[in-house]
Amino acid sequence: LPPNDDLAAAIRTIPDYPKPGILFRDITTLLGDARAFGRAIDALAEPFAAAGIDKVAGIEARGFIIGGAVAHRLAAGFVPIRKRGKLPHSTVRVAYSLEYGIDEMEMHVDAVRAGERVVLVDDLIATGGTAQGAVTLLRDMGAEIAAAAFVIDLPDLGGADKLRGLGVDVHTLVA
Ligand code: 5GP
Repeated sequence: LPPNDDLAAAIRTIPDYPKPGILFRDITTLLGDARAFGRAIDALAEPFAAAGIDKVAGIEARGFIIGGAVAHRLAAGFVPIRKRGKLPHSTVRVAYSLEYGIDEMEMHVDAVRAGERVVLVDDLIATGGTAQGAVTLLRDMGAEIAAAAFVIDLPDLGGADKLRGLGVDVHTLVA
């Protein structure tokens, strides 16, 4: 078997969720499979094991599950990037584009220090709008983005290429 076929097989596709015509990649089946979950976390973290990573930043909400586990694997801290209004302390905020319209995401002002090396993590990259917003927040606070890592890439939507165009090293497991 090619590497990561077992991961692809552990991900379920739900037609017409959340809207007609959308094929939603459901990672709850992967998360519930101890072997696949462990393999996914190991494969996401492995390229950065000796990269001196200070923090893993995860995007709400599935990025928290994956990112928390990757942070533990890398002995790094974890930084939550959340929808507007969810974080209790002072925040920095950025607007980002969704398929239809825009939304805002936030990070605590003291979540990363200038020069810290950060890996950005989410479950899936599609258009890249969400990840691009997170890259902007982290770079505005002076973080160095060592890479962005995703379980799933939807390459036809161009998000990974968009991030690479911003000078971000992109690492994905399953297309
Ligand atoms: P983008 O901003 O790259 O277009 O969309 C990526 C964001 O939307 C990620 O935060 C991801 O969790 C979520 N997302 C979009 N489509 C899917 C999907 O099919 N499955 C999952 N699990 N997340 C999705």
